[in-house]
Amino acid sequence: MSAESSKSGPPLKTSHPVTFLIIGGGIAGLSTALALRRVGHHVLVLERKNRDAARGSGGIRLPPNLTKILFHWGLKPALMQRALVTHTMLFIRYESGEDLGEHVWDKGMLKETRGIYMLCTHDDLYDLLYEAAQSSGARIRYGANVVNIDAEAQEVTLESGEKISGDVLVGADGEFGLSRSTVIGQDAFGTPTGLALYDTIISTAHVTKHANASTWKDHGIFTAFGNGRAIVAYPVHGTDNLAMQFYGPDSNEGKYGDEPSVDMPTVTAQLCDHFQPLMKLARKAVRVSIRDHGDLDEWISDDGPLVLIGEAAHPFPPGTIQATAMAVEDGAVLARMFSHLSEDRQIDSFLYAFQELRQPRTRSVRAGEFGNIFYMTLEDGEDSRQRDKSMRAMAAKGTNVLEGLNGDVSRLWDEIRTIFGYDCEDEADDWWMQWGMLRERALERNSMNAGTTLGTPLLDFSSMMSSVQVSDVTHEA
Ligand SMILES: Cc1cc2nc3c(=O)[nH]c(=O)nc-3n(C[C@H](O)[C@H](O)[C@H](O)COP(=O)(O)OP(=O)(O)OC[C@H]3O[C@@H](n4cnc5c(N)ncnc54)[C@H](O)[C@@H]3O)c2cc1C
Repeated sequence: MSAESSKSGPPLKTSHPVTFLIIGGGIAGLSTALALRRVGHHVLVLERKNRDAARGSGGIRLPPNLTKILFHWGLKPALMQRALVTHTMLFIRYESGEDLGEHVWDKGMLKETRGIYMLCTHDDLYDLLYEAAQSSGARIRYGANVVNIDAEAQEVTLESGEKISGDVLVGADGEFGLSRSTVIGQDAFGTPTGLALYDTIISTAHVTKHANASTWKDHGIFTAFGNGRAIVAYPVHGTDNLAMQFYGPDSNEGKYGDEPSVDMPTVTAQLCDHFQPLMKLARKAVRVSIRDHGDLDEWISDDGPLVLIGEAAHPFPPGTIQATAMAVEDGAVLARMFSHLSEDRQIDSFLYAFQELRQPRTRSVRAGEFGNIFYMTLEDGEDSRQRDKSMRAMAAKGTNVLEGLNGDVSRLWDEIRTIFGYDCEDEADDWWMQWGMLRERALERNSMNAGTTLGTPLLDFSSMMSSVQVSDVTHEA
């Protein structure tokens, strides 16, 4: 029997459907819309761009913690048509082209995570979620630019002047969106890290002439470590194209959605000669400045039911494995909690419980993703020499090179188990069993004893949640 996650059967449906207004129709907005429809809520998504402009053509890695959610939602066949399964990572030195070895994910390890590690493009995933959200009954409006959010009045205003209200407002409008500044009370655009991602695509018809074709045919992920630079490349579109993400010096400008404007040879002069011809054949790249954002204490407005999700809540460094996964996990958890909604009075406590569950997970995973980027782009020096030496030694022994890092295999497995193996929907169910139901019963008892209504919360939810052990990963040494 397959160990892949396959929670079959329809999900629990709410007995009290309410209307969610989702601001932003990106990956977070669409996956949340689909998840909420699955549990019976009404959903309207407001996206300022048109559908084509809201999608990107760059690559996306889909780790097992993300694919298992899509499997639960019945999207495995559609995903298998659009995405490739990957098992192998290959490492070289960026400047010399020296081979540093390979890492093949252990099948047993991956099986335990109950998902699959896959590769596709932003528009592949976007279309899949759009089609599923629409057929589930979510309403999605394009060209709907939200210019004001009034959390207290539970209402947004569009650029056209139209006002739209809902029971819960969900801010899924990204790193630079209005929801984030509405919750914080000011703009918060983070600080530049000095690095940017240059995101592009190359036809594999060119690649096979210039590089080892079998790497792409096996759906391997190719990584080049350089001095302040790195490349991550992998096949997409049934291996017709290669998605290439180059990390290098930044000019502190650029974001996803901008017109592709960078000629790759202008930024990859230090890359080894062997791969230089490929850079000339790459499409123009989108430059995405990598900014570091402090953690927000609150993802929920003080004024009313407005909650942040995805990049609006926790901006991730671009191009990383878990950025997209965290956005989809947010939607899955929010919907799982709101499947238990039976009265309006629960809305606030469910939103706070969502924040309490998601903050530790996204914080630790994001710290790990920053660590990975800095590890790949280590400046030449003692640390990079040690990294390369350890990989060479493992490659010479014919073993997986990542297992040799810091000489600690169990740490790698721990990270895989806790990040890839995490089942966010199970975490939400555990929350309900441990705390949600308990609270409801306490409220019922109180109302029976005192003959009062259920209006006054007896238990302080956030203090209860502070004792919940979320199985997040920690990155301590
Ligand atoms: C156009 C685009 C292309 C991308 N391409 C890639 C890629 O190739 N590879 C990759 O790894 N990641 C890509 N990303 C980033 C990726 O989507 C995120 O890292 C992550 O998946 C979660 O995104 P999100 O939905 O939270 O936020 P975002 O992806 O930023 O989506 C936010 C959405 O909100 C909309 N919005 C913003 N303000 C308003 C407003 N006032 N009113 C209404 N709507 C509003 C935006 O137009 C956008 O569609 C892309 C993002 C965008 C927007």
